[in-house]
Amino acid sequence: MDGLSLNPIYYTSEHRAFADSVKRFVEKEISPYVNEWDEAGSFPRELYQKAANVGLMGLGYDDEHGGIPDSDAFYVMLAAIEMAKAGSGGVHISLMIHSIGTPPIHHFARPEIRDEVMPQIIAGEKISALAITEPSGGSDVAAIKTKAVRERDHYILNGEKTFITSGIRADYYTVAVKTDQNAQGAKGISMLLVDAHSEGITKSPLQKMGWWASDTAHLHFDNVKVPVSHLLGEENAGFKVIMNNFNMERFWLAAMAYGYALVCYEEALDWAKQRQTFGKRLVDHQVVRHKLVDMATQLTTTRALLEDTAYRMGQKELQGADLIAQISMSKNIATCTMQFCADAAVQTLGGMGFMRGTKSERIYREVKVNMIGGGAEEIMKDLISKQLGY
Ligand SMILES: Cc1cc2nc3c(=O)[nH]c(=O)nc-3n(C[C@H](O)[C@H](O)[C@H](O)COP(=O)(O)OP(=O)(O)OC[C@H]3O[C@@H](n4cnc5c(N)ncnc54)[C@H](O)[C@@H]3O)c2cc1C
Repeated sequence: MDGLSLNPIYYTSEHRAFADSVKRFVEKEISPYVNEWDEAGSFPRELYQKAANVGLMGLGYDDEHGGIPDSDAFYVMLAAIEMAKAGSGGVHISLMIHSIGTPPIHHFARPEIRDEVMPQIIAGEKISALAITEPSGGSDVAAIKTKAVRERDHYILNGEKTFITSGIRADYYTVAVKTDQNAQGAKGISMLLVDAHSEGITKSPLQKMGWWASDTAHLHFDNVKVPVSHLLGEENAGFKVIMNNFNMERFWLAAMAYGYALVCYEEALDWAKQRQTFGKRLVDHQVVRHKLVDMATQLTTTRALLEDTAYRMGQKELQGADLIAQISMSKNIATCTMQFCADAAVQTLGGMGFMRGTKSERIYREVKVNMIGGGAEEIMKDLISKQLGY
């Protein structure tokens, strides 16, 4: 018992069995290779199929398409914590990005398209990516400029997207486009499923502070033809499709941040128990001990908030503005906990914390993307204030 255990009231035997299989997958297929993959800036594509074999691609989807039905937010939380144990956000985000790229297909594609595409993604054979952010901005989603103009049974797509995770590797993009050029704000936006191998798409890789093993790309769409049947939801009602994605995405990002904070704490605690200075272990110095306690305290409060949020996400009567606010609070709290724990862990490891190969070094470089991606901290606060009716 380390004081940081999950609250057993929330977890069933199915949850635990799932977590155990993800744990084994991470230990065998990811952890031994993360340093090599991070330096290489990539990892083998076969990992998607291996991840699919333990159910990581099927969370939240029907069993008709190969998914895990009734997989609630606790599954997402357990998957995020177990995946974080390898200490590489780059591998993690790449493998799990389908959980933001695919829900628009699952919920809003025409049945024949959904039945064709979903099983390929859930089996890890095809990769999906979500393309919303543009060079002119990501926070103000309603201001996107990429245009899709209808010509008979196709849309002709022109514009650019940037910072797109799995942008090079993906087989499918779910792309936010402007279909009514005269409409203001959120109106006039649609979501399209785009074959990533279509003519007219140029993909350029981007270099990053962290998440090295993940592919992040800039995309150019130059007269790309997209069949009208690939519209997701209604034309000009794409903003609803985008918003529908955000709750689970943000909860998942919060759970990931918690997982990485926990990894930093465990690495620092382990080091502090072994390292000797001035004739005693680091952990025997009160200042270091208190740092570890501060990490444990932030982790415990974050974990309790995430579990309460996951519980509420599963209760129909609790859906609404308060829940949206709480999910956004969870993302902000969890990313601050990650920031605090990464900083404290690197400090506790001393020079070793600055060396490539320690988990804390990598996680330290990955903090900011968690605080920015999927809704930056400031945007979350604005959303919370609106949901609370200020
Ligand atoms: C590694 C990586 C992977 C990503 N993957 C994807 C992906 O797969 N798909 C995708 O679509 N996008 C992706 N993104 C984009 C990400 O979602 C955006 O970076 C994020 O939404 C912020 O948008 P921006 O970078 O354009 O910043 P901006 O919107 O320009 O904002 C810049 C800063 O100003 C702040 N700010 C903006 N408006 C306000 C305001 N009104 N009040 C106060 N502060 C404000 C923001 O919080 C931020 O701190 C990724 C980003 C990164 C770094």
